[in-house]
Amino acid sequence: MYDVKSMRAEEFISDEEIRETLAYADANKDNEALIDEIIEKAKQRKGLNHREASVLLACEIPEKVEAVYRLAEQIKKDFYGNRIVLFAPLYLSNYCVNGCVYCPYHLKNKHIARKKLTQEEIVKEVTALQDMGHKRLAIEAGEDPVNNPIEYILECINTIYSIKHKNGAIRRVNVNIAATTVENYRKLKDAGIGTYILFQETYHKESYEKLHPTGPKHDYAYHTEAMDRAMEGGIDDVGLGVLFGLDLYRYEFAGLLMHAEHLEAVHGVGPHTISVPRVKHADDIDPAAFDNGISDDTFAKICALIRVSVPYTGMIISTRENQEVRERVLPLGVSQISGASKTSVGGYAEPEKEEEVTSEQFDVSDQRTLDEVVNWLMKLGYIPSFCTACYREGRTGDRFMALCKNMQILNCCHPNALMTLKEYLEDYASEETRKIGMELIDRELEKIPNPKVKQTAYEHIHDIAEGKRDFRF
Ligand code: SF4
Ligand code: SF4
Repeated sequence: MYDVKSMRAEEFISDEEIRETLAYADANKDNEALIDEIIEKAKQRKGLNHREASVLLACEIPEKVEAVYRLAEQIKKDFYGNRIVLFAPLYLSNYCVNGCVYCPYHLKNKHIARKKLTQEEIVKEVTALQDMGHKRLAIEAGEDPVNNPIEYILECINTIYSIKHKNGAIRRVNVNIAATTVENYRKLKDAGIGTYILFQETYHKESYEKLHPTGPKHDYAYHTEAMDRAMEGGIDDVGLGVLFGLDLYRYEFAGLLMHAEHLEAVHGVGPHTISVPRVKHADDIDPAAFDNGISDDTFAKICALIRVSVPYTGMIISTRENQEVRERVLPLGVSQISGASKTSVGGYAEPEKEEEVTSEQFDVSDQRTLDEVVNWLMKLGYIPSFCTACYREGRTGDRFMALCKNMQILNCCHPNALMTLKEYLEDYASEETRKIGMELIDRELEKIPNPKVKQTAYEHIHDIAEGKRDFRF
């Protein structure tokens, strides 16, 4: 029985409800009157429910699909402006006791190089990341109670926050580790994490159990209910995601929105972010082995529909996607991207050599340096942002949502983006990037509506040039 407020996975992600939703979407995919009504509702920027959004996903009428794209672009502009927040993943350990069939870290893979960073190695990795200019990390570790217990993760977080190298600092650590207990989530919260990210992989229970044949992750309910435990443990910024390609994308899309609706209904705050990874090649993983791969067109449509369905939720795209695909989906609603990522353990300080046995989780499709990514974003008209202000000001959960809903972005995110970009340009950028960036900052400062904020931002930008750091609104 479907119940959005239930705390049982099989009730808030009801298979029956998803099937009915897909049937409803199929029955209405050419119903222009209903489609227009849904698009009109989306224009009010209050989002769409899983049934409405699924109708738009099924609809193939070119002018309606086009209207969805235009709306996604407009909502992106209104809510996120032209800023793109940058981050990097940091792989702590690839020891894992699970049997996920799409990930090369699965227990039975005896070919991959197993590595776990020591605290000294973390210092080297983080120093290398700081030297690129990164301020925001997402830490990743396999599930292994012996090698990667919660104490290890907490120690790593502590080490990461303590490293101060030249003008560098990691100001926000997001965490992507396996589903765990309320008590452990509380410990993560106390360690000062930003967002807790956990991908569902697939919402289809039967497929889920087949794709996770062994290990603790096999338990669908424990995994699917993890975000509720995280919120109970005090983490109010959580990040959802599915791995597109594992099951039917329309099923996953409906499940994803139902999960977001559940969090909003029970905890009063929806997901902070949604990630949209697709299955990629890796050590012993061939994406062709999965039947449900999606085309770039479908991928773009999903991104646009996530944007219009949950306007307040940030959308993340990683270096799993190449430059071309990233360029296509940036205007449709993506608000965060990773840059210059290494998906191997220890790969920033010591990149793996060709002939070496790899420890990578997946092949990176976008291999550019952070400077190249920053340069590219600015040439496309975006402001690369290294902002971490909300989490550090305690603006998480519903307080962050209030910022978004009050449309204070131009008075808050915008100057923060410019100040953190200025830091990047001063400390890490190449000559060309610096030049483009300085001109961009001059232009963009003028767009701050509140005169007081504008004046303060001008002063801080000047102070950064003089060597001061870490200003925020
Ligand atoms: S997806 Fe995560 S849990 Fe599964 S094998 Fe990879 S690292 Fe382990
Ligand atoms: S001010 Fe908050 S919402 Fe805006 S970019 Fe910074 S961290 Fe994100």
